[in-house]
Formats: sequence, C-alpha cells, structure tokens
Amino acid sequence: MIEQIKFCCNCILPDGFLGIHLNSEGLCSFCNDPKYENINYSRKIISLERRMKALQDWNLVVEDMQMNHGRREYDCILGYSGGKDSTALLHHIINELELTPLAVTSDTGFMTNISKDNMKDTLQQIQVDHVLIEEAIPTFTKLYKYHFFNHNSNETFLARYICDYCSDLIHSILVKEAIKRKIPYVLFGYSPDQTFRYFYEMSQEQIMKEWKPELLESPFFDENDSKWYLNDEELEAETIPRVLLPYHVIPYREQDIIDLVESQNYIKKGHSDPLLTNCNVVHAATFYDFNRYGGILYACQYAELVRQNPESRKKWLRTLKMSAPLILENKFKTKEVNALFNQIGTTQEDMLKHIHEQLDQDPNQESIKRNVEMFRKKKRTNQEILVVH
Ligand SMILES: [Zn+2]
Repeated sequence: MIEQIKFCCNCILPDGFLGIHLNSEGLCSFCNDPKYENINYSRKIISLERRMKALQDWNLVVEDMQMNHGRREYDCILGYSGGKDSTALLHHIINELELTPLAVTSDTGFMTNISKDNMKDTLQQIQVDHVLIEEAIPTFTKLYKYHFFNHNSNETFLARYICDYCSDLIHSILVKEAIKRKIPYVLFGYSPDQTFRYFYEMSQEQIMKEWKPELLESPFFDENDSKWYLNDEELEAETIPRVLLPYHVIPYREQDIIDLVESQNYIKKGHSDPLLTNCNVVHAATFYDFNRYGGILYACQYAELVRQNPESRKKWLRTLKMSAPLILENKFKTKEVNALFNQIGTTQEDMLKHIHEQLDQDPNQESIKRNVEMFRKKKRTNQEILVVH
C-alpha cells in the first residue's frame, strides 16, 4: 500500500506539519479551533473599530504632512524595495497626496535583479529623491549567517526568525535616517495581509523593546553592526518618528496595484510577481525549513487564503505539491540560494548535513522524515501519491 500524506480537509496543512495535527475528522488545529495560534502563525483578525480608528489617524497624518508641506525638505521617508506595493505607495504619496517623500532603500545584499530593474524603471517615471544604503550589507550578511548556523528549534521555522530580524534591521536603518534628517514619519508599503507583527503602526514601545536584539551582545557581532540599530541617545531623545503602514487602512486591491504600476510604466509586465521581487534570503530559508521540518512558512499563508476562499483549495494544494520537490532539492531558485550559502561561508551539502544533525535530535523526526520523503517523491513518479481529498 502506498502511504499518503494526510492534508487537512478544510485547508492544505499536512498532518505532522510543525505543531499541527489533524483530528479524527481530518481538520487541522487552525481549522478546528478559530482561536488556535502557534509560534509560527496566528490569524490576526483586526476589528472594524480598530481599522476605522487607524484610518482616522492616517487622515490626520496626511493633513499634518500637507499643512507642513514646504517647511521641511521631506514630508516623510518611504521604505522603497522595488516591489509593487512600495512602488504604488510612492505613486500615491507623490501624485495623489502631492507630498514630497524621500525614498530610501536599504540593500541587504540579496535584493533581486528584478527589484533593482524595477527601481530604475520607476525612478525614470517619478521625480523623487532616492537614497540607496549599501553600507549595512556586511551586517545583514552576519545576521543571516548567525541564524542559519544557530537556529536550533523544534518549533519555529527559520524563515520566521530571519524575516523578523532582517526587517527590524531595515526598519531601524530607515528610522535612523529619518532621525538624522528630522523627518517625522516613516512609511512602509506592507500589504493588508502582512499584519502578523504590526497593524498600521510600529509603536514606539515595540521599537524600543524589540528592535535592539539581544543577539547583538554575542561576540559574533561588533560595533560596526550595532551602529545600525537605535542607540540609547536616540531612544531617550523621544523624537523617534512614527512608523506607519498605510495599506493596512487605505483601499488596497492587489490587481489594482499591479495594473497601476504596469500602466504607469513603473514596473514591466510580469515583474511585479512577489516571487521575483522578494528577497532571496527567503528562498534559502525555505530550503532549510522544508528539509528540516517537512514544511514551509508559506504553507500557513496559503492555508489561510484557502480558509477565506474554499474554492482556491485545489490551486494552493497543487502549488504546494508542485513546489515541494523543487524546494527540497534546491531546484527552485538554485543560483540565488547557492549565492547566499556562499556568502555566509557554506555550501548546500554542508547545510544539509547541518540540518540532518539537528533533525536527528528532534522528537518528531519520524513524521518529518516521512513527510519530506513523500513530498519529494511526488515529482518522480506518475502515480498520484499525494491524494487530494
Ligand atoms: Zn486546516
């Protein structure tokens, strides 16, 4: 008899997936209990009241920027990545709100070429001052190296960690730039589904508490790294700019954003796919996670999309199964993943060895290894091993 992976019959999470088990009715923990959360993923439901309050606040912020327009060199800093969302937000701020932002890009060393292309195209169409910060690349590289080698968890995906630490560093670099230039607002184009950590505003409290990670104390890092984080003086001065995520409250439809950036010639057709513009570190972390845990963080997000739109289950399940063997064997973004491994002083083989050493200590190793094998086989046989419910 051919063994099969059991997928939740409501969403697409497999049995044995990090912290997830199917009950006797075939429902995963998330589908069985709407309040269920785990360390990798939790559904953030933002109440209408909270959303309306945040929108009111945003309207006041816009009013403030418009009233003071012309008195400062820049009304705000906009975190600009070359992806479709930050590009569309740039357009909104300049052409619809008639404000003057400073676009700031913090290069992690792993931006995709398509993102860089997009920037070039956009900056030919929009009049905006743009600052590209490349000097922090060595710190980003160390941060990745640290996490790939020191991530040692039976519960948390590496991608979760790396993305949080890396984005906090980006946020911090931009906020420092704003402090230096006395700019009162920093905006990011996070889409409405990106609310796992922050909704609409990264509060001063969160900034002070979370943005200076303890790992900086490790001898692995030095003052060349900590200088990119807020120092005590900056934290005590109480002049930290407000960090806001306008797309959490103003209208956002993904297709409208794509249509806008393509019709304005900011981004070439097809170049707004997040798979092409997302940072390449994510792909390497996904390789790690799939081999280590038999699953990936993206599956949690796909699963949520399925819960919201049950008709899309087939599509997302197929996407997961088709991409699984490619990710497991580093055939999905081979060049990019290998470039990252090279940059942090390792190879695919050594990383796999490291992963397997950790997996052998994991009490769930049996079900993880079984899932990995079954996902891997999908591509190699013609038999439908992974059966759709
Ligand atoms: Zn489910």
